[in-house]
Amino acid sequence: MSIEFRNITKRFDNITAIDNLSLTVPGERLMCLVGPSGSGKSTLLLLLTGLLAPDEGEISINGKLVSAADKIIVPPHQRQIGMVFQTLALWPHMTIRKNLTFALKEHCTVSEQHSRIDFILRQMDIAQYENAYPAFISGGECQRVALARALILKPRIFLVDEPLSNLDQNLAEKLLYQIRKSHEDFGTTTIYVTHNQSEALAIADIVAVMNKGKIIQVAPPQEIYERPINKFVASFIAPPSNLIEGELLETHQVKIPWGVFTCHSDEANPLSQRNKKVMALIRPEYLVPGPNGPIKGKIIETSFRGAYWVITLLTENNFRLYYYAQSRFSEIGKIITLTINQPLWIIPEFTAETLRTQRN
Ligand code: ADP
Repeated sequence: MSIEFRNITKRFDNITAIDNLSLTVPGERLMCLVGPSGSGKSTLLLLLTGLLAPDEGEISINGKLVSAADKIIVPPHQRQIGMVFQTLALWPHMTIRKNLTFALKEHCTVSEQHSRIDFILRQMDIAQYENAYPAFISGGECQRVALARALILKPRIFLVDEPLSNLDQNLAEKLLYQIRKSHEDFGTTTIYVTHNQSEALAIADIVAVMNKGKIIQVAPPQEIYERPINKFVASFIAPPSNLIEGELLETHQVKIPWGVFTCHSDEANPLSQRNKKVMALIRPEYLVPGPNGPIKGKIIETSFRGAYWVITLLTENNFRLYYYAQSRFSEIGKIITLTINQPLWIIPEFTAETLRTQRN
């Protein structure tokens, strides 16, 4: 089922939570809605469920108008939407099986209830807990029960709002793949809301980046990472990032403080930008140590991340650059030379004010 938001605005008193937002979610895809806290993600989901009406704009599901300005046209229970909230909201006085039975009540016959519950308990690998109460199973198991309870109603649209925030990283990773698998097994159109960029890049077919009630960019994960449309997306997705002012010389060449380097140049970099000041994105992994590299500087910070280190280099010409190192021999104070081994990305949307480089 495809979903379309057209020119949606939603205000709470004097706060504009959603600001003239338009977005299409293609059917049977998993879209990650990613953005900082307060950017309007949860409000957008509530508008889609029909629990809130927009002040302006329209929402359609599979071409059918479901909400319009100040109007809920199709009520929430007729929208075939399953939702998992961060708070889970399991009934504490009911066993896991009872929680699921309660969700199915009035939706099908008793014998179908049994077969659907048996199926979903197996699917989510929680059959052994069917007679346990929520307080006596782990956080990750509760999450799987909440997923089961949403999916048992066979929704066509599956909404998941920040489900992993309270879990440790191991468990969060397992559940992330469970969500992706459920999305595929049940063939739903899924919107997964998170403020965690790496979760979004890991499971999405499409990432929609939100900020201040607006959609900033919609693209597959790799494109969001490699070709962010503006400084906000470049910095928010996969920090730290190096954003450096430069001058676009001709197709595929940009002049930055360490010389002339190859850059991506496509329709997003119109000819009008030629010979103008631009902002170039150098992801940390584009920078590699090399004895004759053009970038020379002193290591001023190191941060251990397990498989690698994030190193901050203060260059001779006073820029801060981040790069990744595999070895422990990157001590603070050491002089290093770096080279750039991948084409840079020229940020397509920028204004003079956003041209603030990483000069120390
Ligand atoms: P996110 O999910 O991205 O964290 P929200 O959709 O929860 O963002 O909130 C967007 C903005 O709307 C925030 O400024 C928030 O404080 C405000 N907001 C959300 N719900 C309400 C509400 N019921 N009453 C007043 N303000 C709200």
